[in-house]
Amino acid sequence: MIARVTLELALRKEFDYSIPPELEDKIDVGSRVKVPFGPRQMLGIVTALIEQSTHTNLKAISKVVGKQTLVTPKVLQLARWISEYYCCPPEIALKSVLPEAVRKEKEGWKEQLFVRLLPQTGESPKLTARQQSILKILEQRPELPLQELLELAQTTADTIRRLEDKNLLTIASEISERDPYAKEKILPTQPLALNADQKKALDIILLTMDSPVATPTEGKNPNLKNTFLLHGVTGSGKTEVYLQAIAHALEQGKGAIVLVPEISLTPQTVERFKARFSSGNLKTLVAVLHSHLSAGERHDEWHKIRQGRARIVIGARSAIFAPVDPLGLIIVDEEHEHSYKQEEAPRYHARDVAVVRGQMENAVVVLGSATPSLESFYNVQRGKYGLIELPLRADDKKMPLVRVIDMRSTAKKEKGTPIFSPQLKEAITQRLEKKEQVILFLNRRGFATSMQCPLCGYVAECPNCSVSLTYHRAAQKLCCHICGHEVKAPTVCPDVKCRNPAIRYSGLGTEKIEATLIKLFPQAVIRRMDSDAMKRKDDYRVILGDFRTGKIDIIIGTQMIAKGLHFPNVTLVGIIYADLSLHMPDFRASERTFQLLTQVAGRAGRGDVEGEVFVQAFTPFHPSIQFARRHDFAGFYEEEIGFREQLNYPPITRIALLTLKGRNEEKVKFSAEHVKRELEKGLAEIKDLMLLGPAPAPLARAETFFRYQIMLRTRNMTKLGQLLSRITAALVLPDEVSLSTDVDPVNLS
Ligand code: ADP
Ligand code: ZN
Repeated sequence: MIARVTLELALRKEFDYSIPPELEDKIDVGSRVKVPFGPRQMLGIVTALIEQSTHTNLKAISKVVGKQTLVTPKVLQLARWISEYYCCPPEIALKSVLPEAVRKEKEGWKEQLFVRLLPQTGESPKLTARQQSILKILEQRPELPLQELLELAQTTADTIRRLEDKNLLTIASEISERDPYAKEKILPTQPLALNADQKKALDIILLTMDSPVATPTEGKNPNLKNTFLLHGVTGSGKTEVYLQAIAHALEQGKGAIVLVPEISLTPQTVERFKARFSSGNLKTLVAVLHSHLSAGERHDEWHKIRQGRARIVIGARSAIFAPVDPLGLIIVDEEHEHSYKQEEAPRYHARDVAVVRGQMENAVVVLGSATPSLESFYNVQRGKYGLIELPLRADDKKMPLVRVIDMRSTAKKEKGTPIFSPQLKEAITQRLEKKEQVILFLNRRGFATSMQCPLCGYVAECPNCSVSLTYHRAAQKLCCHICGHEVKAPTVCPDVKCRNPAIRYSGLGTEKIEATLIKLFPQAVIRRMDSDAMKRKDDYRVILGDFRTGKIDIIIGTQMIAKGLHFPNVTLVGIIYADLSLHMPDFRASERTFQLLTQVAGRAGRGDVEGEVFVQAFTPFHPSIQFARRHDFAGFYEEEIGFREQLNYPPITRIALLTLKGRNEEKVKFSAEHVKRELEKGLAEIKDLMLLGPAPAPLARAETFFRYQIMLRTRNMTKLGQLLSRITAALVLPDEVSLSTDVDPVNLS
């Protein structure tokens, strides 16, 4: 037998090795192996077993690493799809599929030495005072880690070994699992009685799970009947539907993957899933995967899944590769979230990978959102996905009343940019008087977004990036939000010839709102939630805990507060500057604004008192704002899809964005022109191909690199992908210039 092996190398190639007889029955597709490569031994993964190779004189595999194969053949197939669709080398795709902690040889189970007291028979031997004190400790706790005993007894391992010699105790190594949630107590929950809409939703999902429709391969629009878009307003009880659908998968002996955006992967979310399956006949471990796990924790979670002890996986983006087998159900919650897209190679979109994996493994895929992406709703309209709707809140609570406030009239009366309209100020005052809570939202951190000198015209800009620096008042710093560059905030104009002490700050951020609030409502307890204020791992949990128990009156935050949180006592949500996200140079600006406003508004009125939302805007009649005010997704979709059709933007077409970067602008520009000429040869092959650029990227310089972009649009991404792979493989660029390819980009800057 011959094994085809992908090595940990950036080579667009796989290598064939012979399998020595003694390893024949230990090697399978997915096995990790050590192989000779040049003078070195390298780690690799077996991607296929073949009878014959076109090469002669094959070298032999040296050894197998680990007892179990780490990727299932199905996940390998998924990696191959990622490599082809997202135009990246197979070993890069494989790296994403298999986390480093699992791939590397050294990250094993954490083995600990445990000391255990042995039952005593017969006469007790003579012991020193120290030895007796050790036994006293063990009588209280008959089993404990050696390290802990050494500390408790203030003694050495040698002393304890001597007690082992006397047969009084044993020392043995044992695997201790790292469980990041070990300290939490979880109370089991029972399924809720579903309302009529939820029941209908669940029935559709279960019916499909019981008789999955195999995907037809012929035809242009394969009907992905196993994929559903679950469009449910915030608070409509989507999570309860997920939980009961997962229960059904478990009953069938299958597992489930639940993807949530990293930001909503809070202990509360995880707890809802753990609690439901912590007891009863469907009891299983729930593995949690996210980017803050240590390498060791990640390794342990992964193996729990691979060994079948954890049938449910909940995690951010990369959890889509979890080796759940067999897989019955994939849930992608908040499917419209942009954080599902990985912003480095392989630049995959976890939602789209989920749909493909569902097809490959015949699993049902449920994409849930209160504000579906245009892409997913378009797929519903074309009959690719089924649509399930939950139009009402689960507990019969009304949707909050949304008022849009025209800030132009406030601006006329005040100097500078107004922050609070009289209406919002009054509403906050009233809610505070009633001891109710308030959430305020502004999706921009810092105190001021730019610093200028009105005398000489100096503007504080980042030396590495083409953006202005943001003023952070508490830290007294000017910071770049792209590269992290920081300087001490000046007290006079930095221009040596000017030195004007009256520097001006403009553009507001959350820090400024906080400062203004403290002045307006000195008696209220106010906290800020953004990535500056939430520096430590625990900050987020603590602040939410304090808010829940009523220790905080007002929270002001960035999009960190827009997701999933619900607090029954929040009766007022204020959106300070709703048009902020409308001014981005991105065709999705309207969509993003609609989603953000709807999500933030959904935080109000989750309890017994009806909620109210104030949306302050300078363009109050913009469709994104008006449709969000009426909670009208269908209306928004109709209007927006019309624009996309006219302009030939996604989801009508698909985009591949090529970015060239380097420190020498001329070389970058020249290379971009060269790439364009190569691409133009492909214009004949793909008849609807649109080619734009090269042009400086919206972010023309970042981290000292100049950036040029070429945008390609077509309805036939499969063909374009093949063309791009072919062209980029043969491309010769100057050493200092690099090219990245982003298929279906969500970030166009
Ligand atoms: P979503 O995920 O759609 O935002 P949730 O699943 O968080 O909504 O549900 C919102 C609230 O309604 C939760 O407090 C949940 O416990 C409650 N809920 C959901 N389904 C039901 C039900 N069938 N009966 C009673 N309460 C429910
Ligand atoms: Zn910078």
